Order: sequence, then structure tokens, then C-alpha cells
Amino acid sequence: LMHARGLELAFGTTRALRGIDLDIAAGEVLAVTGPSGSGKSTLLHVLAGVLTPDAGTVQYGGRNVASLGEADRARLRLAEFGFIFQFGQLLPDLSALDNVTLPLLLAGVSRRRALERAHAQLDALGLGEHERKLPTQLSGGQAQRVAVARALVTSPRILFADEPTGSLDSLAAEQTMGALLEAARAAHSTLVVVTHDARIAAYADREVIIRDGRVSLDNGLLQGTRPDGEEQTR
Ligand code: ATP
Ligand code: MG
Repeated sequence: LMHARGLELAFGTTRALRGIDLDIAAGEVLAVTGPSGSGKSTLLHVLAGVLTPDAGTVQYGGRNVASLGEADRARLRLAEFGFIFQFGQLLPDLSALDNVTLPLLLAGVSRRRALERAHAQLDALGLGEHERKLPTQLSGGQAQRVAVARALVTSPRILFADEPTGSLDSLAAEQTMGALLEAARAAHSTLVVVTHDARIAAYADREVIIRDGRVSLDNGLLQGTRPDGEEQTR
């Protein structure tokens, strides 16, 4: 479904991505793990067309996401991708319902239809009775599920989720992750989820470990460079 090749991205002198190859199959749940600062969030942002890499390609639907202009990438994100960010999830001045309605309005759906769909999505995540609340009036787990609803309401082909359960206790994390997996499968979305949580990675069909801006493990296959500098066979 999506094929990344040779992705590199530096922030000043920090080389966040140092040559990443990754294939994402349609319908799979892919867990991305690895140490803090290893480049997981950066990778997700590049795959979703939020950041432009210095080098490399991201093939999706016959196009290279990495070489599209900002307007085309924004259109693609809105139409085909969903994103749950690691930080700064919901717009604080909008109710849960309005937060979930917003991406539909941006996609050109009528207000009435958008409200209907947003309401149904929140209901499906067990948030029907909280939809009028502002983000500050929700518990952490509820707010996180609103972010899940907002990302899924447009039925994205690929949903990118960056630590969607990061700040939650283990019960709320499990509930949120369960809701996310169920909703993603129901929408036939492909899910790419960054997580520190080994139990959550265990739910995935496949796990990729990122270390120092490189893929160090993909589906049980070791990748990378040996001490003598020769590339290992894959
Ligand atoms: P965590 O598990 O803590 O979320 P991560 O694997 O998501 O970590 P990234 O956020 O991708 O890590 O960061 C990779 C590296 O790039 C880090 O060294 C980080 O400091 C650096 N970095 C990320 N974003 C920026 C930025 N906007 N400006 C400068 N450096 C950045
Ligand atoms: Mg991160």
C-alpha cells in the first residue's frame, strides 16, 4: 500500500532518519517501536506527508508523497490519511463533537451530514454522553478516544497513530487501544501505530523497531550494518 525507500531527514546536526526502507501492506496493523529519540515520530510525519524528507521516496497510490507540493500533500492527508499526534491532540475551545466534525467540514461534507457522522463515530467509541464537553472536561482516556474518533471519522485508508495511549494508565491504555483497533478494522483502515508499550505491540500484525534513525528489526529480520561496515543480507 505504501513503500518508503531511503528516507533521510536531519534537523540541523541531528540526523533523525538515516536511510529508512519500509513497506506497509493494506489492512495490516504495524507497530513501530524503539528508544526515545530514535526517529519514530519523525518517520510517521514523513510517511503521512507532514514533513518533507531530505532524501528518499514514499510511494503511495502511484505518487511520491515526499515530492508533492504542500497543497497536494494537505489534500492527500485530508482525503486518505488520519493522524493521531503524540502531543496537542484536540482543539481546546471546541467541544468533543465539534473536534470530530471539523475534518469532515474541511473535506467539504455538509454540516448536517458531518454532525451525524461525528456523532455516530463518538457513539461507537462509547463517548456519546460526553460529546458536548470541552477537552478540559474530559478524562485523559476520553480525550484520547475523541482523538481516535477525529482521526477515524473520515474513514482513512491509512491511520497513523503516534503513542495514542502514551499518557494513560494501563487500563485506559488498553481500552483506548482496543477501541482504536476495533474501529480501524471496522473501517478497513491500515494502522501504523508508534508505541512504547510491549503489550500494545503484541496486538499488531507486525513490528518494526527503529534505532538511531534506522530500521533495526522488521518482522523478526535483523537489518543494518555490521561492525565491518558491510550491509547484512535481509
Ligand atoms: P519519543 O519516543 O521520545 O517520542 P521519537 O522516536 O519519536 O522519540 P523523534 O521525535 O522522531 O523521536 O526525534 C528524533 C530525533 O530528532 C531526536 O533526536 C529529536 O531531538 C530530533 N528532533 C525531532 N524533531 C525535531 C525538531 N523539530 N527540531 C529539531 N530536532 C528535532
Ligand atoms: Mg515520538
